[in-house]
Amino acid sequence: MQTVKGKTGDWEIILGLEIHAQIASKSKLFSGSSVKFGSEPNSQVSFVDAAMPGMLPVINEYCIEQAVRTGLALNAKINLYSVFDRKNYFYADLPQGYQISQYLDPIVGKGEIVLDMPEGKKTVGITRIHMEQDAGKSLHDQNPRFSYIDLNRSGVALMEIVTEPDMRSSEEAVEFMKKLRTILRYIGSCDADMEKGMMRCDANVSVRKPGGELGTRCEIKNLNSTGNIKRAIEYEAERQVEILESGGKIGQETRLFNADSGTTATMRTKEDAHDYRYFPDPDLLPLEISQEYVDKIKASLPELPDAKKERYKALGLSDYDAGVLVAEQETTAYFDEAAKGRDAKLVSNWLTVELFGRLNKVEKPITESPVSAKQLGELVGLIQDNTISGKIAKDVFEIMFETGRNAGEIVEEKGWKQVTDTGAIEKIVDEVIAANPDKVADYKGGKDKLFGFFVGQVLKNSGGKANPVIVNELLKKKLS
Ligand code: ADP
Ligand code: MG
Repeated sequence: MQTVKGKTGDWEIILGLEIHAQIASKSKLFSGSSVKFGSEPNSQVSFVDAAMPGMLPVINEYCIEQAVRTGLALNAKINLYSVFDRKNYFYADLPQGYQISQYLDPIVGKGEIVLDMPEGKKTVGITRIHMEQDAGKSLHDQNPRFSYIDLNRSGVALMEIVTEPDMRSSEEAVEFMKKLRTILRYIGSCDADMEKGMMRCDANVSVRKPGGELGTRCEIKNLNSTGNIKRAIEYEAERQVEILESGGKIGQETRLFNADSGTTATMRTKEDAHDYRYFPDPDLLPLEISQEYVDKIKASLPELPDAKKERYKALGLSDYDAGVLVAEQETTAYFDEAAKGRDAKLVSNWLTVELFGRLNKVEKPITESPVSAKQLGELVGLIQDNTISGKIAKDVFEIMFETGRNAGEIVEEKGWKQVTDTGAIEKIVDEVIAANPDKVADYKGGKDKLFGFFVGQVLKNSGGKANPVIVNELLKKKLS
Protein backbone atom coordinates (compact mmCIF):
# COMPACT_ATOMS: atom_id res chain seq x y z
CA MET A 1 0.00 0.00 0.00
CA GLN A 2 1.21 3.48 -0.88
CA THR A 3 0.90 5.95 1.98
CA VAL A 4 1.44 9.64 2.42
CA LYS A 5 3.62 10.31 5.42
CA GLY A 6 2.17 13.20 7.38
CA LYS A 7 3.05 14.82 10.68
CA THR A 8 0.27 12.84 12.34
CA GLY A 9 1.28 9.51 10.80
CA ASP A 10 0.50 7.60 7.60
CA TRP A 11 -2.46 8.35 5.37
CA GLU A 12 -4.05 5.91 2.96
CA ILE A 13 -4.85 6.99 -0.62
CA ILE A 14 -8.29 6.06 -1.99
CA LEU A 15 -8.79 6.14 -5.76
CA GLY A 16 -11.66 5.66 -8.16
CA LEU A 17 -11.32 6.32 -11.89
CA GLU A 18 -13.75 7.52 -14.53
CA ILE A 19 -12.54 6.72 -18.03
CA HIS A 20 -13.95 8.07 -21.26
CA ALA A 21 -13.16 5.66 -24.05
CA GLN A 22 -14.00 6.59 -27.62
CA ILE A 23 -15.83 3.75 -29.31
CA ALA A 24 -13.93 2.60 -32.39
CA SER A 25 -16.74 3.12 -34.87
CA LYS A 26 -16.57 4.86 -38.24
CA SER A 27 -19.49 7.14 -37.49
CA LYS A 28 -20.95 9.00 -34.51
CA LEU A 29 -23.37 7.71 -31.85
CA PHE A 30 -26.51 9.33 -33.27
CA SER A 31 -25.49 10.51 -36.76
CA GLY A 32 -23.69 9.22 -39.84
CA SER A 33 -20.80 11.73 -39.73
CA SER A 34 -17.29 10.37 -39.86
CA VAL A 35 -15.14 10.38 -36.73
CA LYS A 36 -11.79 10.36 -38.54
CA PHE A 37 -8.99 11.74 -36.34
CA GLY A 38 -7.17 14.90 -37.38
CA SER A 39 -9.60 16.20 -40.00
CA GLU A 40 -10.18 19.88 -40.89
CA PRO A 41 -12.28 21.67 -38.23
CA ASN A 42 -16.04 21.37 -38.84
CA SER A 43 -15.59 19.02 -41.81
CA GLN A 44 -17.37 16.15 -40.05
CA VAL A 45 -20.54 17.71 -38.78
CA SER A 46 -24.07 16.68 -39.70
CA PHE A 47 -27.22 18.64 -38.93
CA VAL A 48 -27.75 16.38 -35.92
CA ASP A 49 -24.26 17.12 -34.52
CA ALA A 50 -24.84 20.85 -35.01
CA ALA A 51 -28.24 20.54 -33.28
CA MET A 52 -30.26 22.07 -36.09
CA PRO A 53 -33.93 22.36 -35.09
CA GLY A 54 -36.01 19.33 -36.01
CA MET A 55 -33.07 16.97 -36.45
CA LEU A 56 -33.54 13.63 -34.72
CA PRO A 57 -30.89 11.28 -33.32
CA VAL A 58 -30.72 7.72 -34.67
CA ILE A 59 -28.80 5.20 -32.58
CA ASN A 60 -25.72 3.61 -34.15
CA GLU A 61 -26.14 -0.12 -33.59
CA TYR A 62 -22.45 -0.82 -33.99
CA CYS A 63 -21.76 1.35 -30.92
CA ILE A 64 -24.27 -0.61 -28.83
CA GLU A 65 -22.48 -3.80 -29.80
CA GLN A 66 -19.12 -2.34 -28.74
CA ALA A 67 -20.45 -1.27 -25.35
CA VAL A 68 -21.86 -4.78 -24.80
CA ARG A 69 -18.57 -6.35 -25.91
CA THR A 70 -16.72 -4.16 -23.45
CA GLY A 71 -19.07 -5.07 -20.61
CA LEU A 72 -18.69 -8.77 -21.34
CA ALA A 73 -14.89 -8.47 -21.48
CA LEU A 74 -14.99 -6.87 -18.00
CA ASN A 75 -17.15 -9.71 -16.65
CA ALA A 76 -19.94 -7.24 -16.14
CA LYS A 77 -23.70 -7.48 -15.99
CA ILE A 78 -25.31 -6.44 -19.28
CA ASN A 79 -28.57 -4.58 -18.79
CA LEU A 80 -31.09 -5.63 -21.42
CA TYR A 81 -32.99 -2.41 -20.73
CA SER A 82 -31.19 0.93 -20.69
CA VAL A 83 -32.23 4.55 -21.12
CA PHE A 84 -30.70 7.58 -22.82
CA ASP A 85 -31.04 10.75 -20.76
CA ARG A 86 -30.40 14.38 -21.40
CA LYS A 87 -27.70 15.86 -19.20
CA ASN A 88 -28.41 19.57 -19.40
CA TYR A 89 -25.74 22.22 -19.24
CA PHE A 90 -24.73 25.25 -21.24
CA TYR A 91 -21.42 25.56 -22.96
CA ALA A 92 -20.47 26.99 -26.35
CA ASP A 93 -19.14 23.65 -27.57
CA LEU A 94 -22.45 21.92 -26.82
CA PRO A 95 -24.95 23.20 -29.41
CA GLN A 96 -27.82 21.00 -28.18
CA GLY A 97 -27.61 22.50 -24.69
CA TYR A 98 -27.55 18.96 -23.36
CA GLN A 99 -25.43 15.87 -23.73
CA ILE A 100 -27.21 12.59 -24.49
CA SER A 101 -25.92 10.19 -21.86
CA GLN A 102 -27.20 7.36 -19.68
CA TYR A 103 -27.84 7.99 -16.02
CA LEU A 104 -30.09 5.76 -13.90
CA ASP A 105 -30.20 2.88 -16.38
CA PRO A 106 -26.79 2.38 -18.01
CA ILE A 107 -26.20 -0.41 -20.54
CA VAL A 108 -23.55 -2.14 -18.38
CA GLY A 109 -23.64 -2.75 -14.64
CA LYS A 110 -21.14 -4.20 -12.18
CA GLY A 111 -17.98 -5.92 -13.39
CA GLU A 112 -14.30 -6.17 -12.51
CA ILE A 113 -10.71 -6.05 -13.72
CA VAL A 114 -8.00 -8.12 -12.05
CA LEU A 115 -4.56 -6.49 -11.85
CA ASP A 116 -1.25 -8.33 -11.53
CA MET A 117 0.58 -6.24 -8.96
CA PRO A 118 4.08 -7.14 -7.68
CA GLU A 119 2.49 -8.06 -4.33
CA GLY A 120 -0.19 -10.22 -5.92
CA LYS A 121 -3.57 -10.05 -7.64
CA LYS A 122 -5.79 -7.05 -7.02
CA THR A 123 -9.42 -6.91 -8.08
CA VAL A 124 -10.85 -3.51 -8.99
CA GLY A 125 -14.63 -3.28 -9.21
CA ILE A 126 -16.29 -1.70 -12.23
CA THR A 127 -19.36 0.24 -11.12
CA ARG A 128 -20.93 0.74 -14.53
CA ILE A 129 -20.37 1.60 -18.18
CA HIS A 130 -22.67 3.95 -19.98
CA MET A 131 -22.76 5.33 -23.50
CA GLU A 132 -22.75 9.04 -24.19
CA GLN A 133 -21.89 11.55 -26.88
CA ASP A 134 -18.85 13.80 -26.81
CA ALA A 135 -19.03 17.61 -27.03
CA GLY A 136 -17.23 19.84 -29.53
CA LYS A 137 -13.98 21.64 -28.90
CA SER A 138 -13.27 25.34 -28.32
CA LEU A 139 -10.30 26.74 -30.23
CA HIS A 140 -8.71 29.66 -28.42
CA ASP A 141 -5.48 29.94 -30.37
CA GLN A 142 -6.74 30.85 -33.85
CA ASN A 143 -7.50 34.54 -33.34
CA PRO A 144 -6.47 36.89 -30.51
CA ARG A 145 -9.97 38.37 -30.21
CA PHE A 146 -12.27 35.40 -30.77
CA SER A 147 -12.73 31.80 -29.78
CA TYR A 148 -13.88 29.35 -32.42
CA ILE A 149 -15.74 26.06 -32.11
CA ASP A 150 -14.84 22.83 -33.89
CA LEU A 151 -17.80 20.44 -33.88
CA ASN A 152 -15.97 17.45 -35.37
CA ARG A 153 -16.05 15.71 -32.00
CA SER A 154 -19.64 16.70 -31.31
CA GLY A 155 -21.65 13.49 -31.14
CA VAL A 156 -18.69 11.10 -31.17
CA ALA A 157 -19.58 7.90 -29.26
CA LEU A 158 -17.97 7.44 -25.86
CA MET A 159 -18.18 4.78 -23.21
CA GLU A 160 -17.78 6.08 -19.70
CA ILE A 161 -16.26 3.38 -17.55
CA VAL A 162 -16.55 4.06 -13.81
CA THR A 163 -14.64 2.12 -11.17
CA GLU A 164 -15.34 1.56 -7.50
CA PRO A 165 -13.02 3.46 -5.11
CA ASP A 166 -10.94 0.27 -4.82
CA MET A 167 -7.45 1.43 -5.77
CA ARG A 168 -4.94 2.29 -3.06
CA SER A 169 -1.87 3.54 -4.93
CA SER A 170 -0.90 5.49 -8.02
CA GLU A 171 0.76 2.31 -9.32
CA GLU A 172 -2.57 0.49 -9.14
CA ALA A 173 -4.22 3.29 -11.08
CA VAL A 174 -1.51 3.10 -13.74
CA GLU A 175 -1.77 -0.69 -13.95
CA PHE A 176 -5.54 -0.38 -14.19
CA MET A 177 -5.24 1.96 -17.16
CA LYS A 178 -2.75 -0.35 -18.87
CA LYS A 179 -4.92 -3.41 -18.33
CA LEU A 180 -8.05 -1.63 -19.49
CA ARG A 181 -6.22 -0.42 -22.60
CA THR A 182 -5.05 -3.96 -23.35
CA ILE A 183 -8.55 -5.39 -22.99
CA LEU A 184 -10.20 -2.67 -25.10
CA ARG A 185 -7.65 -3.22 -27.85
CA TYR A 186 -8.08 -7.01 -27.77
CA ILE A 187 -11.81 -6.71 -28.32
CA GLY A 188 -11.47 -3.73 -30.68
CA SER A 189 -14.09 -1.56 -28.99
CA CYS A 190 -11.64 1.35 -28.55
CA ASP A 191 -8.20 2.13 -29.98
CA ALA A 192 -7.30 3.40 -26.50
CA ASP A 193 -4.56 5.78 -27.62
CA MET A 194 -4.34 8.30 -24.78
CA GLU A 195 -2.17 10.66 -26.84
CA LYS A 196 -4.91 10.99 -29.41
CA GLY A 197 -7.52 11.54 -26.73
CA MET A 198 -9.23 8.22 -27.49
CA MET A 199 -9.03 7.30 -23.84
CA ARG A 200 -9.24 10.01 -21.18
CA CYS A 201 -9.12 9.54 -17.46
CA ASP A 202 -10.45 11.51 -14.50
CA ALA A 203 -9.06 10.42 -11.14
CA ASN A 204 -11.07 10.72 -7.93
CA VAL A 205 -8.71 11.06 -5.00
CA SER A 206 -9.29 11.13 -1.26
CA VAL A 207 -7.16 10.27 1.77
CA ARG A 208 -7.96 8.74 5.14
CA LYS A 209 -6.27 7.32 8.21
CA PRO A 210 -5.95 3.55 7.58
CA GLY A 211 -9.25 1.84 8.37
CA GLY A 212 -11.13 5.12 8.91
CA GLU A 213 -14.17 6.52 7.11
CA LEU A 214 -13.85 7.47 3.43
CA GLY A 215 -12.77 11.08 3.06
CA THR A 216 -14.16 13.74 0.73
CA ARG A 217 -12.83 13.28 -2.81
CA CYS A 218 -11.61 15.65 -5.47
CA GLU A 219 -11.93 14.74 -9.12
CA ILE A 220 -8.88 15.54 -11.25
CA LYS A 221 -9.40 16.12 -14.94
CA ASN A 222 -7.12 16.36 -17.92
CA LEU A 223 -4.96 13.31 -17.34
CA ASN A 224 -3.74 12.34 -20.78
CA SER A 225 -0.98 9.84 -19.98
CA THR A 226 -0.27 7.22 -17.36
CA GLY A 227 2.72 9.29 -16.23
CA ASN A 228 0.47 12.26 -15.56
CA ILE A 229 -2.08 10.08 -13.77
CA LYS A 230 0.66 8.98 -11.38
CA ARG A 231 2.02 12.49 -10.82
CA ALA A 232 -1.41 14.05 -10.35
CA ILE A 233 -2.55 11.46 -7.81
CA GLU A 234 0.61 11.78 -5.75
CA TYR A 235 0.50 15.57 -5.75
CA GLU A 236 -3.20 15.65 -4.91
CA ALA A 237 -2.94 13.15 -2.04
CA GLU A 238 -0.15 15.19 -0.44
CA ARG A 239 -2.10 18.40 -0.88
CA GLN A 240 -5.11 16.90 0.88
CA VAL A 241 -3.02 15.53 3.75
CA GLU A 242 -1.45 18.95 4.29
CA ILE A 243 -4.87 20.61 4.48
CA LEU A 244 -6.31 17.99 6.81
CA GLU A 245 -3.31 18.03 9.12
CA SER A 246 -3.42 21.79 9.45
CA GLY A 247 -7.04 21.56 10.58
CA GLY A 248 -8.68 22.36 7.22
CA LYS A 249 -11.43 20.53 5.35
CA ILE A 250 -11.47 19.15 1.81
CA GLY A 251 -14.19 20.63 -0.34
CA GLN A 252 -15.55 18.29 -3.01
CA GLU A 253 -14.50 19.83 -6.30
CA THR A 254 -13.26 19.26 -9.80
CA ARG A 255 -9.58 20.10 -10.25
CA LEU A 256 -7.39 20.45 -13.30
CA PHE A 257 -3.93 18.94 -13.54
CA ASN A 258 -1.18 21.16 -14.90
CA ALA A 259 1.43 18.91 -16.51
CA ASP A 260 4.10 21.65 -16.58
CA SER A 261 4.02 22.42 -12.86
CA GLY A 262 2.85 18.96 -11.76
CA THR A 263 0.15 20.56 -9.58
CA THR A 264 -3.65 20.55 -9.47
CA ALA A 265 -5.87 23.62 -9.16
CA THR A 266 -9.57 24.25 -8.66
CA MET A 267 -11.55 24.15 -11.90
CA ARG A 268 -15.06 24.28 -10.46
CA THR A 269 -16.67 23.37 -7.19
CA LYS A 270 -18.46 20.09 -7.62
CA GLU A 271 -21.87 20.17 -9.20
CA ASP A 272 -24.44 17.62 -8.08
CA ALA A 273 -26.43 15.36 -10.36
CA HIS A 274 -29.59 17.43 -9.84
CA ASP A 275 -27.83 20.46 -11.33
CA TYR A 276 -27.91 18.64 -14.66
CA ARG A 277 -31.68 18.08 -14.58
CA TYR A 278 -31.35 14.61 -16.06
CA PHE A 279 -34.45 13.31 -17.81
CA PRO A 280 -35.06 10.60 -20.43
CA ASP A 281 -34.49 11.95 -23.93
CA PRO A 282 -37.95 12.03 -25.55
CA ASP A 283 -36.33 11.69 -29.00
CA LEU A 284 -35.02 8.23 -28.16
CA LEU A 285 -36.82 5.09 -27.08
CA PRO A 286 -35.44 3.09 -24.17
CA LEU A 287 -32.84 0.69 -25.53
CA GLU A 288 -33.95 -2.93 -25.33
CA ILE A 289 -31.65 -5.74 -26.36
CA SER A 290 -32.24 -9.49 -26.15
CA GLN A 291 -30.28 -12.10 -24.26
CA GLU A 292 -29.68 -13.90 -27.58
CA TYR A 293 -28.06 -10.76 -28.93
CA VAL A 294 -25.79 -10.60 -25.88
CA ASP A 295 -24.97 -14.31 -26.10
CA LYS A 296 -24.04 -13.95 -29.76
CA ILE A 297 -21.63 -11.13 -28.94
CA LYS A 298 -20.20 -13.16 -26.07
CA ALA A 299 -19.50 -16.06 -28.40
CA SER A 300 -17.59 -13.74 -30.73
CA LEU A 301 -15.16 -12.43 -28.10
CA PRO A 302 -11.51 -13.31 -28.67
CA GLU A 303 -9.40 -15.05 -26.05
CA LEU A 304 -8.84 -12.33 -23.43
CA PRO A 305 -5.50 -11.41 -21.81
CA ASP A 306 -6.06 -13.25 -18.50
CA ALA A 307 -7.01 -16.50 -20.24
CA LYS A 308 -4.16 -16.13 -22.70
CA LYS A 309 -1.69 -15.59 -19.91
CA GLU A 310 -2.79 -18.78 -18.16
CA ARG A 311 -2.49 -20.69 -21.42
CA TYR A 312 1.05 -19.40 -21.98
CA LYS A 313 2.06 -20.31 -18.45
CA ALA A 314 0.77 -23.83 -19.08
CA LEU A 315 3.17 -23.94 -22.06
CA GLY A 316 6.04 -23.37 -19.64
CA LEU A 317 6.46 -19.59 -19.82
CA SER A 318 7.17 -17.65 -16.64
CA ASP A 319 4.51 -15.37 -15.18
CA TYR A 320 6.63 -12.39 -16.21
CA ASP A 321 7.23 -13.50 -19.80
CA ALA A 322 3.58 -14.44 -20.28
CA GLY A 323 2.66 -10.99 -18.94
CA VAL A 324 4.98 -9.25 -21.40
CA LEU A 325 3.53 -11.19 -24.33
CA VAL A 326 -0.15 -10.65 -23.54
CA ALA A 327 0.15 -6.88 -22.99
CA GLU A 328 -0.34 -6.25 -26.71
CA GLN A 329 -2.58 -8.34 -28.89
CA GLU A 330 -0.21 -7.84 -31.84
CA THR A 331 2.55 -9.51 -29.81
CA THR A 332 0.39 -12.50 -28.92
CA ALA A 333 -0.71 -12.90 -32.52
CA TYR A 334 2.95 -12.94 -33.56
CA PHE A 335 3.87 -15.35 -30.78
CA ASP A 336 0.99 -17.73 -31.50
CA GLU A 337 2.02 -17.94 -35.15
CA ALA A 338 5.76 -18.30 -34.45
CA ALA A 339 5.27 -20.90 -31.71
CA LYS A 340 3.17 -23.25 -33.84
CA GLY A 341 4.83 -26.64 -33.41
CA ARG A 342 7.93 -25.12 -31.74
CA ASP A 343 9.34 -24.93 -28.23
CA ALA A 344 7.20 -22.14 -26.75
CA LYS A 345 9.77 -21.06 -24.20
CA LEU A 346 12.50 -20.77 -26.83
CA VAL A 347 10.20 -18.78 -29.11
CA SER A 348 9.24 -16.50 -26.22
CA ASN A 349 12.92 -15.85 -25.45
CA TRP A 350 13.73 -15.04 -29.03
CA LEU A 351 10.72 -12.77 -29.28
CA THR A 352 11.14 -10.81 -26.05
CA VAL A 353 14.92 -10.57 -26.09
CA GLU A 354 16.26 -10.60 -29.66
CA LEU A 355 13.29 -9.37 -31.68
CA PHE A 356 12.10 -6.74 -29.20
CA GLY A 357 15.68 -5.57 -28.68
CA ARG A 358 16.23 -5.17 -32.39
CA LEU A 359 12.82 -3.54 -33.00
CA ASN A 360 13.46 -1.05 -30.20
CA LYS A 361 16.69 0.01 -31.86
CA VAL A 362 14.92 0.89 -35.11
CA GLU A 363 11.82 2.16 -33.24
CA LYS A 364 9.42 -0.10 -35.08
CA PRO A 365 6.33 -1.88 -33.73
CA ILE A 366 6.09 -5.65 -34.04
CA THR A 367 3.53 -5.25 -36.82
CA GLU A 368 6.31 -3.78 -38.98
CA SER A 369 8.92 -6.37 -38.07
CA PRO A 370 11.13 -7.26 -41.05
CA VAL A 371 11.21 -10.80 -39.64
CA SER A 372 7.75 -12.33 -39.83
CA ALA A 373 6.35 -14.66 -37.17
CA LYS A 374 6.69 -17.59 -39.54
CA GLN A 375 10.32 -16.72 -40.21
CA LEU A 376 11.17 -16.48 -36.52
CA GLY A 377 9.44 -19.83 -36.02
CA GLU A 378 11.61 -21.34 -38.75
CA LEU A 379 14.76 -19.99 -37.12
CA VAL A 380 13.78 -21.48 -33.76
CA GLY A 381 13.02 -24.74 -35.55
CA LEU A 382 16.58 -24.83 -36.88
CA ILE A 383 17.93 -24.40 -33.34
CA GLN A 384 15.58 -27.05 -32.00
CA ASP A 385 16.59 -29.70 -34.51
CA ASN A 386 20.29 -28.89 -34.02
CA THR A 387 20.81 -27.59 -37.54
CA ILE A 388 22.41 -24.48 -36.02
CA SER A 389 23.60 -23.51 -32.56
CA GLY A 390 21.95 -20.72 -30.57
CA LYS A 391 25.10 -18.68 -31.08
CA ILE A 392 25.08 -18.95 -34.87
CA ALA A 393 21.33 -18.30 -34.79
CA LYS A 394 22.04 -14.77 -33.54
CA ASP A 395 24.12 -14.05 -36.65
CA VAL A 396 21.42 -15.58 -38.84
CA PHE A 397 18.79 -13.47 -37.11
CA GLU A 398 20.78 -10.29 -37.71
CA ILE A 399 20.88 -10.99 -41.45
CA MET A 400 17.18 -11.89 -41.43
CA PHE A 401 16.39 -8.59 -39.75
CA GLU A 402 18.50 -6.63 -42.24
CA THR A 403 17.32 -8.38 -45.40
CA GLY A 404 13.99 -10.04 -44.60
CA ARG A 405 15.36 -13.35 -45.94
CA ASN A 406 14.57 -16.81 -44.58
CA ALA A 407 16.77 -18.52 -42.02
CA GLY A 408 17.21 -21.79 -43.94
CA GLU A 409 18.41 -20.00 -47.04
CA ILE A 410 20.96 -17.92 -45.09
CA VAL A 411 22.32 -20.94 -43.21
CA GLU A 412 22.65 -22.85 -46.49
CA GLU A 413 24.38 -20.01 -48.31
CA LYS A 414 26.81 -19.22 -45.50
CA GLY A 415 27.57 -22.88 -44.82
CA TRP A 416 26.59 -22.37 -41.17
CA LYS A 417 24.98 -25.73 -40.65
CA GLN A 418 26.08 -27.23 -37.40
CA VAL A 419 28.61 -30.01 -37.87
CA THR A 420 27.18 -33.19 -36.40
CA ASP A 421 29.48 -35.38 -38.43
CA THR A 422 31.47 -37.10 -35.68
CA GLY A 423 34.43 -37.76 -37.96
CA ALA A 424 34.83 -34.10 -38.86
CA ILE A 425 34.59 -33.01 -35.23
CA GLU A 426 37.00 -35.73 -34.13
CA LYS A 427 39.58 -34.35 -36.52
CA ILE A 428 39.38 -30.91 -34.88
CA VAL A 429 39.46 -32.47 -31.39
CA ASP A 430 42.65 -34.32 -32.28
CA GLU A 431 44.22 -31.14 -33.65
CA VAL A 432 43.40 -29.20 -30.47
CA ILE A 433 44.81 -31.96 -28.26
CA ALA A 434 47.96 -32.17 -30.34
CA ALA A 435 48.48 -28.41 -30.24
CA ASN A 436 48.22 -28.17 -26.42
CA PRO A 437 50.34 -30.92 -24.83
CA ASP A 438 50.98 -28.85 -21.65
CA LYS A 439 47.32 -28.27 -21.00
CA VAL A 440 46.51 -31.91 -21.67
CA ALA A 441 49.07 -32.90 -19.05
CA ASP A 442 47.67 -30.38 -16.54
CA TYR A 443 44.14 -31.62 -17.16
CA LYS A 444 45.14 -35.21 -16.67
CA GLY A 445 46.99 -34.13 -13.53
CA GLY A 446 43.72 -32.96 -11.98
CA LYS A 447 43.03 -29.48 -13.37
CA ASP A 448 39.40 -30.28 -14.28
CA LYS A 449 38.58 -26.69 -15.07
CA LEU A 450 40.66 -26.92 -18.26
CA PHE A 451 37.91 -29.00 -19.87
CA GLY A 452 36.08 -25.79 -20.75
CA PHE A 453 39.21 -24.53 -22.50
CA PHE A 454 39.27 -27.56 -24.81
CA VAL A 455 35.56 -27.24 -25.61
CA GLY A 456 36.07 -23.56 -26.41
CA GLN A 457 39.03 -24.28 -28.70
CA VAL A 458 37.20 -26.97 -30.64
CA LEU A 459 34.11 -24.78 -31.09
CA LYS A 460 36.30 -21.87 -32.19
CA ASN A 461 38.26 -23.94 -34.69
CA SER A 462 34.99 -25.23 -36.13
CA GLY A 463 33.80 -21.68 -36.70
CA GLY A 464 31.17 -22.15 -34.01
CA LYS A 465 29.55 -24.89 -36.03
CA ALA A 466 30.49 -28.04 -34.16
CA ASN A 467 27.60 -29.52 -32.20
CA PRO A 468 28.56 -28.86 -28.56
CA VAL A 469 27.08 -32.13 -27.30
CA ILE A 470 29.25 -34.17 -29.65
CA VAL A 471 32.28 -32.01 -28.84
CA ASN A 472 31.81 -32.73 -25.15
CA GLU A 473 31.42 -36.44 -25.66
CA LEU A 474 34.50 -36.76 -27.87
CA LEU A 475 36.70 -34.66 -25.60
CA LYS A 476 35.70 -36.69 -22.57
CA LYS A 477 36.58 -39.88 -24.39
CA LYS A 478 39.91 -38.64 -25.72
CA LEU A 479 41.12 -36.93 -22.56
CA SER A 480 40.35 -39.75 -20.12
P1 ADP B 1 -19.90 11.56 -10.05
O1 ADP B 1 -20.64 10.93 -11.17
O2 ADP B 1 -20.52 12.73 -9.48
O3 ADP B 1 -18.47 11.84 -10.41
P2 ADP B 1 -19.83 8.97 -8.64
O4 ADP B 1 -20.57 8.54 -7.44
O5 ADP B 1 -20.23 8.34 -9.91
O6 ADP B 1 -19.90 10.54 -8.77
O7 ADP B 1 -18.30 8.67 -8.35
C1 ADP B 1 -17.34 8.96 -9.25
C2 ADP B 1 -16.04 8.27 -8.89
O8 ADP B 1 -15.60 8.66 -7.60
C3 ADP B 1 -16.07 6.77 -8.89
O9 ADP B 1 -14.99 6.34 -9.67
C4 ADP B 1 -15.86 6.39 -7.44
O10 ADP B 1 -15.13 5.21 -7.32
C5 ADP B 1 -15.06 7.55 -6.92
N1 ADP B 1 -15.19 7.78 -5.49
C6 ADP B 1 -16.33 7.80 -4.77
N2 ADP B 1 -16.04 8.07 -3.47
C7 ADP B 1 -14.70 8.25 -3.39
C8 ADP B 1 -13.79 8.56 -2.32
N3 ADP B 1 -14.23 8.79 -1.09
N4 ADP B 1 -12.48 8.66 -2.61
C9 ADP B 1 -12.04 8.47 -3.85
N5 ADP B 1 -12.83 8.16 -4.88
C10 ADP B 1 -14.14 8.05 -4.66
MG1 MG C 1 -17.48 12.29 -12.18
